[in-house]
Amino acid sequence: MRVLLLSDIHSNLEALEACLAAAPAYDVVVNLGDIVGYCASPNEVITRSRALGKHFIRGNHDRAVCGLMDLKDFNPIAALAAEWTRDQLTPENLEWLRALPQGPIQIDELGGVQFVHGSPVDEDDYVVTVQDAVEPIMVTEAPVTFFGHTHLQGSFAANDTHLDSYRPAYKTVGQSEVSEFPLKKGQRYLVNPGSVGQPRDGDWRSGFAAFDSESGIVTFHRVPYNLKSAQDRIFAANLPQRLATRLAAGR
Ligand code: ZN
Repeated sequence: MRVLLLSDIHSNLEALEACLAAAPAYDVVVNLGDIVGYCASPNEVITRSRALGKHFIRGNHDRAVCGLMDLKDFNPIAALAAEWTRDQLTPENLEWLRALPQGPIQIDELGGVQFVHGSPVDEDDYVVTVQDAVEPIMVTEAPVTFFGHTHLQGSFAANDTHLDSYRPAYKTVGQSEVSEFPLKKGQRYLVNPGSVGQPRDGDWRSGFAAFDSESGIVTFHRVPYNLKSAQDRIFAANLPQRLATRLAAGR
């Protein structure tokens, strides 16, 4: 089965469209959450995402926007964006967001693989460092977990004695690129496809991944998108300017 993995789109329609245009053929799409928040096209992104399939996990921003999480836990800019998003969403889209499942979720035909937003231990945990990865990679039953939330593309791999982290190495700063990461039998993995709508690894390009369960290969992708258009929508919506400038820096 060929799985297209999208995470942390954050209402960035231009980035989502660029990813879909660059995506290889797939059998199923899994969305790892934070569909909305930060950028300025929440309804458009929800409509586009819903048309891609049925596998979704809720993110913390999705919960905050539909009132399932207190905005006091957010920084002021994220809280402002969540409130703005709530005002923009159609009642139907708000209702749809509120009903999204908490991870982990699995797909029937895909044994040994699970999907979460933050960590398999806690949906709100951030798995950034090797130390963060130790518990979630060892305690869960599924050997392969796809996760999001950190907006950092890459993987953690563990065998009986070692736990290593891996970040794809790219050659350019502005072109479409891919980086293959083959999964080995007998190892355990946490894999983050990267953020479609607000990357934070210093690379402004939109990130996503594809997983072929037959070959066991994860392919990380980075694609340029119409940054200016996404920024102009943020300015036009009177959202905090920082939300536009950070997109250019990939931070
Ligand atoms: Zn996020």
